[in-house]
Amino acid sequence: MEQKKLLEVKNLKKHFKVGRNKIVKAVDDVSFDIYEGETFGLVGESGSGKSTTGRTIIRLYDATDGQVLFNGENVHGKKSKQELLKFNRNMQMIFQDPSSSLNPRMTVLDIIAEGLDTHHLVKDKAERKARVEELLEVVGLNKSHANRFPHEFSGGQRQRIGIARALAVEPSFIIADEPISALDVSIQAQVVNLLKKLQKDRGLTYLFIAHDLSMVKYISDRIGIMYLGHLVEVADSDEIFNNPLHPYTKSLLSAIPLPDPEYERTRKRISYDPTVHDTSEEPKLREIGPRHWVRCTSKELEQYKIELDK
Ligand code: ADP
Ligand code: MG
Repeated sequence: MEQKKLLEVKNLKKHFKVGRNKIVKAVDDVSFDIYEGETFGLVGESGSGKSTTGRTIIRLYDATDGQVLFNGENVHGKKSKQELLKFNRNMQMIFQDPSSSLNPRMTVLDIIAEGLDTHHLVKDKAERKARVEELLEVVGLNKSHANRFPHEFSGGQRQRIGIARALAVEPSFIIADEPISALDVSIQAQVVNLLKKLQKDRGLTYLFIAHDLSMVKYISDRIGIMYLGHLVEVADSDEIFNNPLHPYTKSLLSAIPLPDPEYERTRKRISYDPTVHDTSEEPKLREIGPRHWVRCTSKELEQYKIELDK
């Protein structure tokens, strides 16, 4: 089946100027596609450029270079007010720390209704309240929570409020930037399950950002691995777990604890040595198999092919 590309990220760069003459290449020539209805997991250690990628896609930052296409339309560049509103409605973001992304002085009602107001989606106060109450129930909260303030909720509940706020404008694409990293392990699965259910019910497409592979395993159809501003490997989720090729991907995999205590005792962690690479040419993302890309030189590609055939 031919899948439709909802989002196309092409050679995206986001460089920050820090101080007088230092440049941080937070995102440096990153390309990937996200198909309609799927979850694309973006994984990498802290500082690898995941949030910057997400924030640039959604226009919180201007791109230094490259393109982002959403439904074939350019996201960046000059836009009319109406076009901007349309993009804002279609793409929403959920943040890692719900406490700092929810205004503490606003009621849950006003927080969730913000998008409804901006996009004039309700005709009066009664409809506004009814919509918010419905959204609260959709995310597993209670109608009566509408009049409360963010500090009255637990971390998991606050993340549900963040999800309700994003859903209010009926987006087709949601960027979830480490939405479960700040939550207790016992709560993480609940929030992931909620996101999965919402995806199924509403046909949503997700970019799901996480700093470790175990968090994206159960939600992602495909996974992209980021290291220092570059995507180093992209493949279907199973392929990443069964046939990892880039040494950085292997090191991330080796960091996942195993459920079996016997194996766990013998688990060997592999640390990534960025100097192991062939330097005869500039590495780039190359296709090694169906839907599987690795950042490497042509020489390394040949080695990876042999490894894959074994
Ligand atoms: P991640 O989300 O993977 O932890 P980030 O995208 O937050 O990574 O950051 C990538 C790199 O860009 C880091 O080195 C970070 O310090 C730098 N960075 C992020 N935002 C800014 C900014 N606004 N100004 C300057 N440097 C930034
Ligand atoms: Mg981040």
